[in-house]
Amino acid sequence: MNNKIYDITIIGGGPAGIFASYYARMRKLNVALIESLPKLGGQPETLYAQKEIFDIAALPKISGTELTDSLIKQLELLGCDKYLGTSVTDLKQIDDIWNVDTDKGTIKTKSIIIAIGNGAFKPRKLTFDYDPLLEENNLSYFVNDMEEYRDKDIAIAGGGDSAVDWAIHLDKISNSTSLIHRRNKYRAMESSVSELNDSDVDQMNPYIIKDVKFNDDDRTKIDVELKMIRSDEIKTITVDKLLVNYGFISDSKILHDWNLNLEGPFIKVDREMETNLPNVFAIGDIITYPGKLQLIATAFAEGPIAVTKALRNMYPDRDYFAHSTSLFEQ
Ligand SMILES: Cc1cc2nc3c(=O)[nH]c(=O)nc-3n(C[C@H](O)[C@H](O)[C@H](O)COP(=O)(O)OP(=O)(O)OC[C@H]3O[C@@H](n4cnc5c(N)ncnc54)[C@H](O)[C@@H]3O)c2cc1C
Repeated sequence: MNNKIYDITIIGGGPAGIFASYYARMRKLNVALIESLPKLGGQPETLYAQKEIFDIAALPKISGTELTDSLIKQLELLGCDKYLGTSVTDLKQIDDIWNVDTDKGTIKTKSIIIAIGNGAFKPRKLTFDYDPLLEENNLSYFVNDMEEYRDKDIAIAGGGDSAVDWAIHLDKISNSTSLIHRRNKYRAMESSVSELNDSDVDQMNPYIIKDVKFNDDDRTKIDVELKMIRSDEIKTITVDKLLVNYGFISDSKILHDWNLNLEGPFIKVDREMETNLPNVFAIGDIITYPGKLQLIATAFAEGPIAVTKALRNMYPDRDYFAHSTSLFEQ
């Protein structure tokens, strides 16, 4: 953490937060973007990376991950300070400056935009105890870098879109890929399941994982113990890497401690996306107002509205509306 006082700190690196960060940079504000996960993208990247989206203006079809890549590429044109793998825990106003407390330290800022969607995502983990050292190299809940799987023997656990998509993609670079699922049927798009069936992925179903431990002879590898559902059959596979894709849980309970006006789980905002707290705005899936739609298109529009009002509050003498061509600095 540094000693800067940011103009705007945006909490949440989903579509709403990434685009609002870019727009705030276009308005020449200095911006911090905080995301609890190690990578940006929010729901489209985390929950439906390969699903096609058809209702983004001017893009007839784009997948969740392509949308995320484009948003990040756009943000990189102007850059901002990004704090990834950092969760916001509290907001406190001290002498007109907001202190945004995180699990890694405090960020000071004049205004805040809350864009936390359904709350901080955490991966659903294996439910039994295992050696925490396994998470250093062998056991993951995210793919940070596909290259880590090149030429490796890998097992992927899960039966949803994400597990099936990763099995198809990683099988193209791995030495071998096994997909472990507790049912015989996947909860994934039909086209993905057909692609899976045409691939070399070894489909192990219906099995659940009972245990994971380092291999006794070669501690770079792990033994994954599997039990067949409704059977006593137990078998062990030895792999380099296990990727667990059991989905994500989100938690927005933290909002109750921030003195915000809420309606159910949502933050109430006015027409300029302002909350009841001074210079604190909110956008995207976490907010409610009459007619609110939980769509990416709506979230994109809410960012510039919030940024413009924040700008006007902070710097009343600055022009508060302009078209992109007059704002963009090459
Ligand atoms: C399966 C599915 C399909 C969908 N399909 C479509 C579609 O086709 N078209 C469409 O328009 N919409 C679709 N949506 C909805 C769309 O994904 C959401 O409207 C959009 O993601 C909202 O963006 P957001 O930035 O507000 O929130 P999110 O995408 O949820 O991002 C919020 C981010 O904030 C982070 N965060 C939360 N709490 C904290 C904290 N305390 N500290 C730091 N970071 C935090 C989270 O980790 C997350 O990355 C779909 C949703 C789902 C689940």
